[in-house]
Amino acid sequence: MKATTPPNPDVHPETHMMRYAYDPALASHSVKPPLYLTSTFSFEDAAHAKAYGEVINGLREKEEGEDFSNTYIYSRDTNPNIEIFEQRLRIWDGAEACAAFDSGMGAISTLMWAFLNPGDVVLHSEPSYGCTDFLLKSILTRFGIRPVGFKLSEGNAGLEAALKQPGVADKVKLIYIETPSNPSIAIGDIAYCAQVARRLSVGERRVMVAVDNTFLGPIYQKPIALGADIVLYSATKYIGGHSDLLAGAASGKQEDINQMKLYRAMLGPIPAPHTCWLLTRSLETMQLRMEKSAANAQKVAAFLATHPKVEKLHYLGNLKPGDAAYETYKKQCLGPGGMMAIEVINGEAGAFRFLNALNVFHQAVSLGGNESLAVHPKTTTHAEVDPEDRIEGGITDSLVRMSIGIENADDLIADLKQALDKV
Ligand SMILES: *Cc1c(COP(=O)(O)O)cnc(C)c1O
Repeated sequence: MKATTPPNPDVHPETHMMRYAYDPALASHSVKPPLYLTSTFSFEDAAHAKAYGEVINGLREKEEGEDFSNTYIYSRDTNPNIEIFEQRLRIWDGAEACAAFDSGMGAISTLMWAFLNPGDVVLHSEPSYGCTDFLLKSILTRFGIRPVGFKLSEGNAGLEAALKQPGVADKVKLIYIETPSNPSIAIGDIAYCAQVARRLSVGERRVMVAVDNTFLGPIYQKPIALGADIVLYSATKYIGGHSDLLAGAASGKQEDINQMKLYRAMLGPIPAPHTCWLLTRSLETMQLRMEKSAANAQKVAAFLATHPKVEKLHYLGNLKPGDAAYETYKKQCLGPGGMMAIEVINGEAGAFRFLNALNVFHQAVSLGGNESLAVHPKTTTHAEVDPEDRIEGGITDSLVRMSIGIENADDLIADLKQALDKV
């Protein structure tokens, strides 16, 4: 439902998750929001419908005394379940507005369609999520949009080097950064990207910064506060948290999110009301789940860090002063989260033996659920990525990505121990 008052800033986000943007009086005083399984809504009367249409289509401003807080038209524009979720998630992001999507890719692709034109350059971090990589390199290029990658492993110097390539600095419209990156947990400097965007935004020109915050957000990383324009999520992951839905979200300034909502209505990647009902439920426990997952990850990482079969551990909590990424991590992240990756001995064969021996971890793609998951990115999530980009992105033969769930940490460690014995 449309919130009629802004969230009280003295109340903490986790408290808002139980009540904000829902009025029980509109639904028989049901404590939990009902599920609005309807495609269409009846109008109060014809004049009200006309007035609402004029206001939402920008033909005139809302007049004193007009109330559209409980007016809906059609569930491809919005629906009360979608709005409750959006207005609660934006609180965590410290954003003016939020738009929900039917998947993370729905959010990411809508961002691209809403803001890019032929001739524009997207400066994007590498490596990035496999489907984002495909969208940038194989779809947007068909529409005259040029992706130019910068490697997170090269830090801010990598971004500056990409900008110096011919025809980049004057054509950049969007700096797109996924940090930490999937699957190698590399980190990029969001505040620096925002500074570069400001430097390039002169006169009429506006360069935007969008951050894929799926791995740490919204609890452990707050890109809006660091200067980003748009924060994107695969809400399928930590926000949904139960591996039982697909969804996406974008938070940012009201005007930008309105533009994305317009494209969402036209292109159709709107989530189902039931999905948003589940997401609203999930937001109630998101902080608890993410804290437990992060606490488990810390124990698991301590075990893996010294294991003889583990050649390398990629985990934000493992960065040391002096690591190039450490300073960025310290100023940008509120914790290391629940994601990590390891490189085991014996290459792909070793990785496969390890994965096949796991009993508590599921061998599955995706992440951020209550259950622990492990996957071999090279042959699954990142199989379509160009082999050269894959190697440069650190997606090696022996890399195994792990999402640490909320089980008992000792059980997770016992499972890893017996699986590593088989490597
Ligand atoms: C999963 C994921 C996506 C895509 O989200 P879907 O909900 O699967 O469409 C985008 N970015 C990252 C970092 C992801 O992990």
